[in-house]
Amino acid sequence: MQLLKGKDVAAFHSHRMAQQIQAVREKMGIDPELAIVVVGDDAPSAMYAASMQRTARSVGLKASIYREAADISEADLLALIDRLNEDPMVFGILLMMPLPKSIDSQCIINRIDPSKDVDGLTDANIANLYTGRAGFVPCTPQAVMAILDYYHISLSGKEVVIVGRSNVVGKPLSQLCLQQNATVTVCHSRTNDLKAVCQRADVVIAAAGKAGLVTGDMIKPGAVVIDVGINRVDGKTVGDVAFDDAALRAGAITPVPGGVGAVTTMMILENVVCGIARIATIL
Ligand code: NAD
Repeated sequence: MQLLKGKDVAAFHSHRMAQQIQAVREKMGIDPELAIVVVGDDAPSAMYAASMQRTARSVGLKASIYREAADISEADLLALIDRLNEDPMVFGILLMMPLPKSIDSQCIINRIDPSKDVDGLTDANIANLYTGRAGFVPCTPQAVMAILDYYHISLSGKEVVIVGRSNVVGKPLSQLCLQQNATVTVCHSRTNDLKAVCQRADVVIAAAGKAGLVTGDMIKPGAVVIDVGINRVDGKTVGDVAFDDAALRAGAITPVPGGVGAVTTMMILENVVCGIARIATIL
């Protein structure tokens, strides 16, 4: 059984990005920036923003946090997005969710220039994903694909079963797997016989947010198991897969923590670098 270590995948991307960003600074004399917008005082958002800023700085990328009060008007927030859209040094805009209830989130998201929408949340980028055009993809599905790619796991012709159909994980993942020529089944809370569906999978991707939902007996011997879930149980972080049992049957499996989550923030930065690459012929 092979342990698919997200930390190794993240380290690979981090090293490559640091070199690319250094080359941009030296050869083009520019200081590219990721703009992180935090509205209100949601504690997880503030923590995620600070951690994203640290990770960006660790690869040499400038990351600024724009903190706005919870009672900011929609017009003022749209004006901030417009300013960031127009700033040529801003290559990525990351809007922390959730926004205060008084604000129409989708309206603000869709104001982000799709070429700076490094979280792949705008309708334009969602349409790009579903039509197979180039664009930004949400970071968690992208992290799953980065892990498969790093470990040379091909999806072509494989049966992939995704457990979870959310807009940020399950649905975009299904499109990315289709693009890699997998035969994809998406399961959800109303799926009749989850065990039977998972048992036929060459690759199981669990993204339901239910600790221990995917048990060892659901795994076909030799299958690849990717656990996206993050759950707190008895003060410990665990995934959606009953790891010890599943690992006895899987050919390869991601741990939690240290699996998909370790790669996710790196994918946002990878998207910023992609944006820079559009104007920088040196990359
Ligand atoms: P969500 O709550 O929006 O969606 C969960 C999905 O799971 C739904 O489509 C639901 O139908 C399905 N589901 C729930 N119970 C089920 C069951 N018993 N059988 C089959 N399907 C079931 O959640 P989300 O935002 O997609 O996140 C899913 C999990 O991934 C969560 O644990 C979340 O914390 C985690 N997550 C991890 C990362 C990361 O970086 N690793 C990023 C985002 C989300």
